Amino acid sequence: MTQPNKTPTEKTPTELDDAQLNRFSRQILLSDIDYAGQLKLAQSHALVIGLGGLGSPAALYLAAAGLGQLTLVDFDQVDDSNLQRQIIHNEQRIGQNKAESAAHTLAQLNHFCQTHVISHQLENEALDALIQQVDIVLDCSDNFETRYALNQACLKARKPLVSGAAIRWEGQLTTYDFRHDDSPCYECLYKPGTSNDQSCSRNGVVSPLVGMVGSMQAMEAIKALIGLPTLVGKLLLIDGLTMQFRQFNLKQDPHCIQCQKK
Ligand SMILES: [Zn+2]
Repeated sequence: MTQPNKTPTEKTPTELDDAQLNRFSRQILLSDIDYAGQLKLAQSHALVIGLGGLGSPAALYLAAAGLGQLTLVDFDQVDDSNLQRQIIHNEQRIGQNKAESAAHTLAQLNHFCQTHVISHQLENEALDALIQQVDIVLDCSDNFETRYALNQACLKARKPLVSGAAIRWEGQLTTYDFRHDDSPCYECLYKPGTSNDQSCSRNGVVSPLVGMVGSMQAMEAIKALIGLPTLVGKLLLIDGLTMQFRQFNLKQDPHCIQCQKK
């Protein structure tokens, strides 16, 4: 684990060693992943914004799956009321910074994965610089301000953005892949000025729902990194109460201010 605020570029591995071949053998067995896909994951660097309900399973699965580097960003501290759903933390970590707590857990899960911790809020320029250094971004935040900032920064850098949200029994998930010109963006879907009261603290959330959505964010990230099909152009809505999963087509809004900047 490196010190806060630093995101050094590690030497990119050119092959997997015997220990990695053994550790990731169940994924290498899949023809869609194979050795080349697993090596690609080892060479990849993902940025996880928010180590709460969504970021906990997303970071755990990305590390377990063999991502080479993860940068974890959260300026909040672990609170007792978080532990109902933020499973990367534990009772001993109450009061500790969430990104640091998450990095400790990941170090015990997969020592092949290099983690970098950022425990303060990022201003726009710092966010732009950070996104330039990574291959993919996972929006596991809980507020619109961060979601708009990430959307704009990823669009500018043309990096894929996996966006998840969960509240009450309802989850949603999509991937905005700005490597492609025709990808919609977050602002095609949600215009600024939207009310910000859709928070777990006000509305509540069922514990495993964030596990479902966060795990699927990791799934989308792995596929986007390897070049497999993702939810780009589709919005997945999950109803945990009825267990209905519905997909809607998402198109770029021709009037979207952000997309016009491309
Ligand atoms: Zn747009």
